[in-house]
Amino acid sequence: MAIATFGSQEDIPELKSRHHDPRNYPQGVAFMDGQYLPMAEAKISVLDWGFLHSDATYDTVHVWDGRFFRLNLHLDRFFRGMERLRMKLPYSREEIEEILGYCVALSGHKSAYVEMICTRGGSPTFSRDPREAENRFIAFAVPYGSVANNEQLKRGLHVAVSETVRIPPKSVDPTIKNYHWLDLVKGLFDAYDFGAETALIMDTNGNIAEGPGFNVFTVKGDRLKTPALGILPGITRQTVFELCQECSLTVVAADLAREELLQADEVFITSTAGGIMPVTRVDHAVIGGGKVGSVTSQLMNLYWRKHSDPAWSTAVSYP
Ligand code: PLP
Repeated sequence: MAIATFGSQEDIPELKSRHHDPRNYPQGVAFMDGQYLPMAEAKISVLDWGFLHSDATYDTVHVWDGRFFRLNLHLDRFFRGMERLRMKLPYSREEIEEILGYCVALSGHKSAYVEMICTRGGSPTFSRDPREAENRFIAFAVPYGSVANNEQLKRGLHVAVSETVRIPPKSVDPTIKNYHWLDLVKGLFDAYDFGAETALIMDTNGNIAEGPGFNVFTVKGDRLKTPALGILPGITRQTVFELCQECSLTVVAADLAREELLQADEVFITSTAGGIMPVTRVDHAVIGGGKVGSVTSQLMNLYWRKHSDPAWSTAVSYP
């Protein structure tokens, strides 16, 4: 009945068509409320606190050539986040692993971006007490996506440093993967206004923190460095630490000043969405003569080689 107050029934299809529905793309399979669904049908209540308050944690793992990459590390981080946020799900770790595998298998994607989410949900009595909420689990598998496109991976990204400060760790624990992205999105708009392709934002002490969905590394001489504070400790970042050990490269997590970034020999960013991605311009500074550096290339090659190594990856069973 309420719909009629907006106009006649004939208006409704036209009204709908004026809004592009992001659920129609990309194609994939979701799991929610006990069911596997096409992505377009995976919908949650607008009253879910995950939506209303960003009261949620999540993790994203990827599948490459039919294999999950470092799934155990992603599950560890997801379960740690839920525990810290005092959330509980009716599924065990093994069951969640199985659900993620089914989402990928049913989607048919051989290279996929796979997200697991736990929202606060809501209280059946509409209570405002988070202890009374029934937490909700959602998972989905869609085609693999990358922060950097193919051209950017070859020539290196142009990053701008925004003055925006990442939300303080005492306000929101950045080690729990979360949807507090307003600072990161503001950073992105600052970067676009500057003419760059993506952004890095600051920590509360004015050092570099991270970007929208990625960590950052510098290479200076034979030493790599990545910020330590106010960041999500990315699984790709951890992977870089392990790859450095294999390559006998020195890497440290410590404060990273903006000037160090501008004066670095090489810069790269890391994310599940794209892996290790080169940066050849920061603000107005050209890094490494504008060419992807040898340390970055070496780590990128090794990173992708690890995707078929059973010690680092797990096969999806497709039907
Ligand atoms: N930092 C933030 C804020 C992120 O959201 C992400 C990933 O989405 C990362 C860093 C990189 O983490 P990972 O390597 O685990 O994808």
